[in-house]
Amino acid sequence: MQLSQFPRIALAHLPTPLEPMPRLSEHLGGPQIYVKRDDCTGLATGGNKTRKLEFSMGEALQEGADTIITVGAVQSNHVRQTAAAACKLGLKCEVLLEHRVQHPSDLYKNSGNVLLDRIFGANLREYDKGTDFDAAMADVASEVTTAGGTPYIIPGGASNAVGALGYVGCGLELLQQFSEQALAVDHIVTATGSAGTHAGLAVGIRGGGSKLPILGIGVNAAQDVQEERVYKLACETADLVGAPGSVARDDIIADCNYIGPGYGEPTESMNEAVLMLARLEGLLFDPVYSGKALAGMIDYIRSGRFDHAKTIVFLHTGGAAGLFAYADTLKLD
Ligand SMILES: *Cc1c(COP(=O)(O)O)cnc(C)c1O
Repeated sequence: MQLSQFPRIALAHLPTPLEPMPRLSEHLGGPQIYVKRDDCTGLATGGNKTRKLEFSMGEALQEGADTIITVGAVQSNHVRQTAAAACKLGLKCEVLLEHRVQHPSDLYKNSGNVLLDRIFGANLREYDKGTDFDAAMADVASEVTTAGGTPYIIPGGASNAVGALGYVGCGLELLQQFSEQALAVDHIVTATGSAGTHAGLAVGIRGGGSKLPILGIGVNAAQDVQEERVYKLACETADLVGAPGSVARDDIIADCNYIGPGYGEPTESMNEAVLMLARLEGLLFDPVYSGKALAGMIDYIRSGRFDHAKTIVFLHTGGAAGLFAYADTLKLD
């Protein structure tokens, strides 16, 4: 597996730290819990999309693009990191924002990530939930071409095989950190949404020669849909990176029982998890992804499903900028 064969632009501060959370471990009376700090990738308040964008933007520049087109929810962390990367690289950024959440508050519509998108000067276009975004992005691309520009489309979450290369890199980085810190890790836990993080991680870990189990906690789709999505992308990514067949179907597990009423809709267990990590470890997680994934991990520990594990690692995918958009829905005591 050679990541150096792909065009890549340095955007992230790497390697991100791998740190223990002793007060959380003690509080839960469970295994040692480490956190992989991909909230500290450094671009515009950080997050997991920055690793992916190193490869997506690398390909865009190689193809001579001058305009990036992408899509996400109004509070998309992916859009925020893409808008920032486009600024850093001197590219224009066309954003298709999907109104995916029911009854959004004024803060949801104007603060958090979307405020930062506006600060970065991205051109925001708004669409209804359920729009055919492949078609809509193709329309924007022809508009750009007609105006004399050269568009490059990054799919939602940068979750194609090119973007997932960023998480192949993260998987390899983790294996190296486990060996440097002499850590015997029993399980990795991550949020899983548009699938590139989970898929890339699986390819990096398996392709790097480790059988370490990875638990994805879903944030939008049902389990069978999510697992198929991750597995398909993992296979494409493994083929691209020259490690075909490295990931098996049963390597991919997504528990989708922590979504609550829907994508981006707050849950009690997310609220509890966000406050617990803030107050025990001084760490900020987000309401849409990492907070729900944490709620899943906490429930697994409390219900004994991690009793076999001495050490687990939670991949912190970032997203704290989204907290501000949920200020009036979070319960703070
Ligand atoms: C996008 C995102 C995820 C999910 O990653 P995918 O690659 O889309 O599955 C998790 N956490 C945060 C904070 C995100 O922004």
